Amino acid sequence: MKKRILLLPFFAFFFLYGCTLLEPIQEEPYFGKGIVTVKFLQVNDVYEIAPLQGGKYGGMARVAYVRDSIKERNPNTFLFMAGDFLNPSLLGNLTKDGERIRGKQMVEVMNAVGFDLVTFGNHEFDLTEKELQKRLDESKFPWVSSNVLHVTPAGTKKPFETKLEMGNEPISDYNTIYVKDSLGNEVRFGFIGVTLDSNPKEYVHYGNIYKEAKRAYDAVYPKVDFVIGLTHLTIDQDHQLAKELPDMPLIMGGHEHVSNLEREGNTVIAKADANAISMYIHTLQYNLRTQVLYVNSKIMYLDEKVPLQSNVDRVVKKWNEVLDTELSKVVSNARDVIYSPKTPLDGTDSANRSIQTNLGDKITEAMAFAYNYKVDAALVNGGSFRVDDMLSGDLTSVDIFRVLPFGGNVLKVDMKGELLKEVLDYGKSQRGNGAYLQRYKISQSPSGDWLIAGKPINYKKKYTIALSDFLLKGLDIPFLTPDNSGIVKVYEPKETELAFDIRKSVISYLKSL
Ligand SMILES: [Zn+2]
Repeated sequence: MKKRILLLPFFAFFFLYGCTLLEPIQEEPYFGKGIVTVKFLQVNDVYEIAPLQGGKYGGMARVAYVRDSIKERNPNTFLFMAGDFLNPSLLGNLTKDGERIRGKQMVEVMNAVGFDLVTFGNHEFDLTEKELQKRLDESKFPWVSSNVLHVTPAGTKKPFETKLEMGNEPISDYNTIYVKDSLGNEVRFGFIGVTLDSNPKEYVHYGNIYKEAKRAYDAVYPKVDFVIGLTHLTIDQDHQLAKELPDMPLIMGGHEHVSNLEREGNTVIAKADANAISMYIHTLQYNLRTQVLYVNSKIMYLDEKVPLQSNVDRVVKKWNEVLDTELSKVVSNARDVIYSPKTPLDGTDSANRSIQTNLGDKITEAMAFAYNYKVDAALVNGGSFRVDDMLSGDLTSVDIFRVLPFGGNVLKVDMKGELLKEVLDYGKSQRGNGAYLQRYKISQSPSGDWLIAGKPINYKKKYTIALSDFLLKGLDIPFLTPDNSGIVKVYEPKETELAFDIRKSVISYLKSL
């Protein structure tokens, strides 16, 4: 059967209000008339199980509610995750029953939601091999990956496996979903999954995106009518993929965290906002008589107007109790709004590991604030910011914990100007890595000299610098340890002081603004 594809590119925004949710869009019925209508619902880059910004946006319980509402009208409704969900998250960094949570909360919630297909994002491989295997075994939803393989301790490359009752099941390099109209007419969809290779790990092999996608495409194509991409790539890579496989009607992608709907030839490429702030609803209508497929993609924002699905919400709340117990050890009223930035604070990994960011400004100033500004400057490694997201709207203490899940002391360190310069040079040389330094009151002149409060550093002088305790462990900057001769004195804060926990310092500082 020769298929033709016709795209209906509706680049429209889709707002839903209260009960009208049950009556989404007016369209031809999914049954009869020789037309099969399928709904593919897409989320990507979801790190937090609970809604953000004081409960206003996102949350997996809202995703489930929307899926249920649409599925009630059209049983041919399927939910997809285009990668990045096991890490990073605030809860994932905590410990439960003696073990780090590391995405367990997300898998449990996704099991409750009932996903139809997921693929790997780069952040899935932040987990250790053992942790990822546990998450794979716990997942009750299918995975697809055409280009990622497991490099076993013995050195062999084979698909990652999930655990089923009958035994282990290798993750397939393609997947199929067959749908029927009420007359039994069938349309068959194949899915391929590819992931970018930005997170190299010894236990992971990334095959060439385009070569492996084409191989999987060719393997599934004879069994289906259409092949869809479920990807976690940069937008440029998605365009390239669409060029190489021009008959794919749709690529559901992720990675950029910002919603986007683009076209490449006959292919629609869609990405939703991170943390289920939005989701994409793709309506695919196949006319069996004319053999034309229509694709209509609409974004839907999951805000306060969308209710929480109660079963999923129950699981989310259970995990939130774990979180609240931990938070209450550091701050009270962790869910109260503390600060609303005028421009979003940039918490992305790529920025904080290569440039001075507005979030870096705030956090380092908070470190000085914790010592009543009785320091000359403040430094923190960009890699200690773990949120990899933009922070906007009403921020609560929870958001600060998302940025700095590990906490730690803010130390006051007297050091010689000479050492300070070496530290700053080293930080600069680490551009692109976690050891890159975010700074307060330290800048660089056009000729490259380091300035403190606008004045060149005096190598002989002693400076008082606020540092995160992690930095003084010599892990990021090997020579920055208390026994370095350039360190004159180290002051460690008492438990009653603001500087005792960097998150406490940041929360108090933001509240003071
Ligand atoms: Zn990603």
